[in-house]
Parts: sequence; structure tokens; C-alpha cells
Amino acid sequence: MNARAPLLNPIPLVMPERIAQEIAVTAVPEDERVWVPQAPDVWFRPLMLNTVAGGWFNLLRVRKSGVLSRHRHPGPVNGYVIKGSWRYLEHSWVASEGSYVWEAPGEIHTLVVDEDVTEMITLFNVNGAMIYLDEQGRHIGYEDVYTKIEMCRAHYAKVGLGADYVDQFIR
Ligand code: FE
Repeated sequence: MNARAPLLNPIPLVMPERIAQEIAVTAVPEDERVWVPQAPDVWFRPLMLNTVAGGWFNLLRVRKSGVLSRHRHPGPVNGYVIKGSWRYLEHSWVASEGSYVWEAPGEIHTLVVDEDVTEMITLFNVNGAMIYLDEQGRHIGYEDVYTKIEMCRAHYAKVGLGADYVDQFIR
């Protein structure tokens, strides 16, 4: 056996009794604390955090207008608009309440919410990661299932739900 270096990022273990356990929750939560702040007036609500395949399902809630992010997905994204609307600067369509959207792997696009929208809520299934880019297309950050888990842990500890509140969404 070769000696090996320790894992730099300990991977949260999914308990065997949990890995096949269903998740059934009210998607838009009654408890405001379940929303995890992502940026000013932007939150996400975890639904399923997939450490096996690498990806997640969450609700994105936005209560501001303008450009939210320019980003690239290495994997496909599925979206379903629950409330309000949004669009990508690179496309002519608008995702409005009831819309389903599929985003192709590799595409770079810029998410905007228009001024007449007071609140938008969209279910997103992101596979792999979100890679954030600046206006020149340079990498400025990323999110994956582990950064999502860490954001949830920190927020739920802070608001009194407990860091382990997120565990119910991890598979
Ligand atoms: Fe996207």
C-alpha cells in the first residue's frame, strides 16, 4: 500500500440509513429562517443536496432587480419558475411563472430580474457546479454541493435551527 496524503476537504458522510430515505417537504417554507442568504435580497432554500452525483435542488428567491450573476454551468440545469420572472441577457425568452427551463452544459449567460418583478422564486436543479464570471469572462467564484452545505450549516447555526438542520437535505 502506498502512503497517501490526508483528504484536504473531509467529505460529509451520508449515513447508510439516510442515503435512500425520501425527502418530502413544503418547498416554500413557512419558517423564514430556512432561507439561506446568498447576497443582499437573494436567498436559496435547499431541497436536496446530492453528494453522490454532485449537484443540488434548491429554490432561488430574489427580491431585487438587475443583474444577478454571469455564470457558466459545467453540467445541465433544470428550472421551474414558481413566482415572478427572470431572463438571460443572451436569450430573447423570459422565464415566467410556470415556465420550465433547461440550460445546456457549458453555456455562459447572465441572469437578470426586471424592474417590474418584486419577487421571483425558481426551483433549480444544478448539476456539478455554478462557475461565476466577471464582465470580462474571468472566473470570480464557484459553488458546488459542498459550498452549499457549508453555507447552510453556517446560516442554520446562526439563526438557531442548528448546523445539523441541513443534514435532512443531504444525500
Ligand atoms: Fe444558468
